[in-house]
Amino acid sequence: MRRRVVGIETEHGLTAAWSGPGPSPVDAERAARYLFEPLLARGRSSNVFLRNGGRLYLDVGSHPEYATAECDRLEDLLAQDRAGSLMLADLAEQGDRALEREGVPARLHLFRNNLDSAGNSFGCHENYLLHRRRDFREVADALVAFFITRQVLVGSGHVRVESGRAAYVFSQRADQVWDAVSSATTRARPIINTRDEPLADSGSYRRMHVIVGDTNMAEPTTALKTGATELLLSAVEDGLRIQDLSLADPMRAIREINADLTGREKVELRDGRTMSAVQVQSEILRRVLDRTDAAGLDPLHRYVVDLWERGIAAIESGDWSGIDTELDVAVKKRLIDSYVARSGAALSDARVARLELSYHDITAQGLRPRMERAGLMRRLTAPEQAAEAVHTPPATTRAALRGRVIAAAEDARRDLTVDWVHLRLDDQASAPVSLQDPLASEDPAVDGLVRLIRGRHPVLPA
Ligand code: ATP
Ligand code: MG
Ligand code: MG
Repeated sequence: MRRRVVGIETEHGLTAAWSGPGPSPVDAERAARYLFEPLLARGRSSNVFLRNGGRLYLDVGSHPEYATAECDRLEDLLAQDRAGSLMLADLAEQGDRALEREGVPARLHLFRNNLDSAGNSFGCHENYLLHRRRDFREVADALVAFFITRQVLVGSGHVRVESGRAAYVFSQRADQVWDAVSSATTRARPIINTRDEPLADSGSYRRMHVIVGDTNMAEPTTALKTGATELLLSAVEDGLRIQDLSLADPMRAIREINADLTGREKVELRDGRTMSAVQVQSEILRRVLDRTDAAGLDPLHRYVVDLWERGIAAIESGDWSGIDTELDVAVKKRLIDSYVARSGAALSDARVARLELSYHDITAQGLRPRMERAGLMRRLTAPEQAAEAVHTPPATTRAALRGRVIAAAEDARRDLTVDWVHLRLDDQASAPVSLQDPLASEDPAVDGLVRLIRGRHPVLPA
């Protein structure tokens, strides 16, 4: 497989659970101030590039976002993504201590999900480096069928309650994307786009930006979501065609597929045929495997192929037991089913909604670590690997360069202006360093910049 950088952006839901009398005075905006206080106290803004090469960012809607550094190895991507949860959970804990000191009876919660209680939707964007080809539009149209049908495998599962009636569906995001996109176009191109900014040399690369996925909790689901996409993109760049699988009405299909837990409901293709989501996925998988040297894959991508096959088989047969520790949609359903059976609560019960929220909570009250320890959710990263990724960038992409410079500047207390491509010392008349190749992890200009930063502070350790 060709080398390619991938990065995941995750926007989080944020609330302060209030245990005092009366209505809570801590709204999302105030909660965000508590959350980001440790960064602001160090004189930094609420938009920072980190030692691990990633970015932490607070946008106007008070949905704290963590964007991983560019990763060209799937294990790095999982570790960097998990590091974001660790970092944010740590900030929430510090925020809780500040609330306690001030005698405010509230506690911060951060959710890796896609819908807040006010009905606002927020996303999990996937970014894939593309080796430039001229017919991207055509490729993008074909990929839409893949992204719309994959929700049966990599959706996070959701108890959807509409006018008092509850139903379990594949995805929290699908209906929201439908709302956002359907009025604009029926071609669904906005769900994958090439951003105007490739964040790289635009002569060689593009950045494909996918906004249609759910935020996942189970690491195997994130691995399948991104790993399968990488395999498909490589095959497409090598000439694979899936244009014949294009959907007639993608935005109608996204809703229909979401609501049909059997995965067998047929949707219409552009050429008039009908196929189910599961059939589209198996057909794509078959074609990808035809073009992939399976023996040449690294162990994690081999696992992805295996999980892709097992996921399709499970949804098709209706027996989800083969994936219910790996794919969110099944892990969560098992959790909720057993709660409903034990408690007798209806699916529409507020306690079920709270349980679903705990599934997505990344603070100390969240279920993920407990479920992983109990063997109910499979974990792929080693805990020490994720902890290390909090302050260590991936070694094999330009994130390594960015991380080195950020670490040197932080240690020397020098102000630095950073974005995905550029690095510039604020107080120095030195030229900014520009990193145009996301796949390059060595650069003499960066060596020079690090020497310059350290040079003024020779007492600091190297
Ligand atoms: P928005 O939050 O408005 O969607 P955005 O998508 O333009 O903004 P960021 O939130 O800063 O940008 O996230 C950029 C993501 O893209 C990061 O995860 C990063 O690792 C990844 N990335 C950076 N350069 C490239 C590239 N050339 N190709 C693919 N991914 C990239
Ligand atoms: Mg972003
Ligand atoms: Mg984005």
